[in-house]
Amino acid sequence: MRKDIDLNYFKQCLEERLEAIMARQEAQEGNEAPVELDQSRVGRLSRMDAMQQQAMAQATGRRVEQERQHIETALSRIESGTYGYCLKCDEDITEKRLRFDPSIFICISCAQKAERD
Ligand SMILES: [Zn+2]
Repeated sequence: MRKDIDLNYFKQCLEERLEAIMARQEAQEGNEAPVELDQSRVGRLSRMDAMQQQAMAQATGRRVEQERQHIETALSRIESGTYGYCLKCDEDITEKRLRFDPSIFICISCAQKAERD
């Protein structure tokens, strides 16, 4: 377990973010319902608008869901004492990087390597 970083601080950050995301997901529910295709009621353009908006809502939904999973993983890693270590190389992730994004799970050099590959 990392002794050099304040795990309680990161746990609190993660829990706050998780709560915010879950509230957002709840508010989003229903926005991804199938687009109404009744042509007599909506014109062609506004139907395309509606479909575009739905696609955007779905993309946002997927991104938010992925973020939620990252946060949940980070929280379980705090519980198991593996938080703050790189998932790929096991090195310490710098505190600065964790403060920037507490749900991050790989170190800067692995992240840069992943970007190059
Ligand atoms: Zn690494």
